[in-house]
Amino acid sequence: MKKIGITGGIGSGKTTVARVFEQLGIPVYHADYWAKEIMNTDPLVKQRLKEIFGNAIYNSEDKADRKRIAEIVFSDKNKLNELNSVIHPAVWLHGENWLKQHEDKPYILKEAAILFESGGNKGVDKVIMVSAPKEIRLQRVMKRDNVTHEEVEARMANQWPDEKKIALSDFVIVNDDKQLVIPQVLEIHQQLI
Ligand code: ATP
Repeated sequence: MKKIGITGGIGSGKTTVARVFEQLGIPVYHADYWAKEIMNTDPLVKQRLKEIFGNAIYNSEDKADRKRIAEIVFSDKNKLNELNSVIHPAVWLHGENWLKQHEDKPYILKEAAILFESGGNKGVDKVIMVSAPKEIRLQRVMKRDNVTHEEVEARMANQWPDEKKIALSDFVIVNDDKQLVIPQVLEIHQQLI
């Protein structure tokens, strides 16, 4: 079973594209979703995050205040590195256990926004990059999350530019509202099975 990473900048549509693969019967591990879940449920992760960010980072229901964490790490690279050193190994381990349930499949997808930035590309056999022009991505996220242009730009600042990621990828899906996505997915699926 091959492990395929699927990535793309914020608003590129990687979750939307991953859903097309799911329709073809390909399991998708949503690393960003599981990272959030693990922050709220894994006792060791919670303990470490409290040590790094203080007990107040968890609310009365013991859920992590992700907005506050994002604000802190945005202006403090050391804290960002510490956060990553806790979250990435925990998600990796969780992902490895998830994989065991899907060993009969020809391949699985691992969806992650910062696959290259986090070094997660080293743990997959091939990478699919979902690409879209920056302005389209901005508009999609502003609409989806009801946030400002500046807020999306700030999130984009922590991600590598598309060109750098495309150069390191094995497949590229262009999701620019012009080119059809499904034929591009089918072409890659054929190559992978
Ligand atoms: P994030 O990194 O923020 O999780 P993402 O790359 O997973 O973003 P999606 O959530 O899949 O992106 O897409 C962003 C928004 O754009 C969503 O509201 C989605 O419905 C919309 N979208 C994505 N692709 C298309 C498309 N081809 N046509 C129309 N809408 C699209």
